[in-house]
Amino acid sequence: FLASEEPDRPMGRRNEICGYTKYGEEFPAKVSIAKINAVPEILLVASIIDLTEKRHMEEELTWKANHDSLTNLPNRRLIIERIGSALKRTLGTQREIALLFIDLDSFKMINDAYGHEQGDQLLVEAAERIVNTMRPGDILARFGGDEFILLCGQLRHQYEAIQIANNLVSALREKINIRGVDHYTSGSIGIAFGSGATHTAEELLKDADLAMYEAKAKGRDNWKIFTSDLQANARTQIEIANGLRTALRNGDIRAHFQPIFDISGQRLVGAELLSRWQHESKNIPPDLFVAIAEKNGIIHELGYFTLRQGCLAQVKSSNILAAGAQPYIAINISVKQLDDPGFAEALRDIVAETGADPQHIVLEITESSLMLNAEKNIETLTKIHKTGVRIAVDDFGTGYSSLSYLSKMPVSKIKIDKSFVTPIGAKHQPRTIVSAIIMMAKAMDFGVVAEGVETQEQLAILSELGCDHVQGYLFARPLTATQFFTLLTEIAPR
Ligand code: C2E
Ligand code: CA
Ligand code: CA
Repeated sequence: FLASEEPDRPMGRRNEICGYTKYGEEFPAKVSIAKINAVPEILLVASIIDLTEKRHMEEELTWKANHDSLTNLPNRRLIIERIGSALKRTLGTQREIALLFIDLDSFKMINDAYGHEQGDQLLVEAAERIVNTMRPGDILARFGGDEFILLCGQLRHQYEAIQIANNLVSALREKINIRGVDHYTSGSIGIAFGSGATHTAEELLKDADLAMYEAKAKGRDNWKIFTSDLQANARTQIEIANGLRTALRNGDIRAHFQPIFDISGQRLVGAELLSRWQHESKNIPPDLFVAIAEKNGIIHELGYFTLRQGCLAQVKSSNILAAGAQPYIAINISVKQLDDPGFAEALRDIVAETGADPQHIVLEITESSLMLNAEKNIETLTKIHKTGVRIAVDDFGTGYSSLSYLSKMPVSKIKIDKSFVTPIGAKHQPRTIVSAIIMMAKAMDFGVVAEGVETQEQLAILSELGCDHVQGYLFARPLTATQFFTLLTEIAPR
């Protein structure tokens, strides 16, 4: 090794000089000078330490800090930095950059069902597909989990980003084969545009994220562009979520009860608990606040609260009516509540604490959500069934039931969705769907409840088709708790 004696050769970093191998290759070196001019013939005595190894290690460490080890793509940290630089470069120009926030739709399900190794392979394959749709100069990063960010810094027109999003959606929709198993996945993409004058990197990411959620909410497997409406919407949702927490604590969420009758329309057999928000100024319908509660995790608090209200109502009605005449209380359960691994135990506890009779409690779970993760739900439903509480499939006909799954679920009733009941009373309306649902339910030994019954004609047809129970405005609207218990007292024999 030789220390550089040539003044015009480039030197290493500060406090370092370069060494040259005998082949003339430069290497980073550190020199410590031992002696100068001690002996006139010797100019300098120095020891040279080769720093190549150390520099490699440094470089590797920086690389690792900025990249994802599975896909080798830039990571969250690096992409935020790159977005920042791309935004800066737009300053003083009319240009915009685009961020595409890409989320794989069924990754979690595949990961849970087939294990992490297959999940990892799926991510690598998805990353490759995204890379194949990229233009030169665009940067792709793995943002976390199954989320990717595509940064398009050079845009001539917003349409270019939309075209990329279209290509991405089709590329991700192709089936992926991993170890002989075909997986069907897709991507939801949020697009946000911005420039250095309007956005910071964090703000633009947030916009793209929000648009991605919108794409998911609109049925996945598509893209959505961020708009300020989305932002206003997100703000309202946060306000509703915060308000809901307070309302739960202040007792402003009240249980109402809609009576359910036998097919004669004469005998009260049950009641569905429908939650109402007693809001001082706004009318916030339950489907809206339940949906927001599902997104924010408040659904567990709301859900257990509702379960308790339902059980207490059952106890109260058992104090009014004899065992044979007591209505069952049907309680709506969001499938998100079943994600809580302790759900069945908590249910058992609530039933025991309140002293409710589980035979008179029915949990209504919508068909579409039950089928979404059927294998796992079968397990949970089986545990619920063991508590003695019964299960009804809600909004039947609107989801895509697999009959083989349905037959494995410990279900006692199905509720025909209002959208099928509404048309049957009208002239020349075919009743085939309702008739087929009822026949299937009978064959599988399920009880059938029709909801949204509003006319005598509908009732007559349902009766003819063999429906068991009916619920709807023809008989009663949802009643306040006071009205409901007054009704029970009135029908109780003196
Ligand atoms: P759902 O379970 O399908 O409940 C039936 C809905 O139809 C109720 O709307 C009820 O008031 C309405 N309805 C009943 N009979 C008729 C009728 O004859 N005609 C018409 N037009 N409508 C009728 P509501 O109370 O607004 O509830 C909407 C949805 O919110 C429910 O749909 C249910 O999915 C959800 N929900 C309500 N309370 C709760 C709750 O405590 N927990 C959960 N997870 N969801 C709830
Ligand atoms: Ca229901
Ligand atoms: Ca319904």
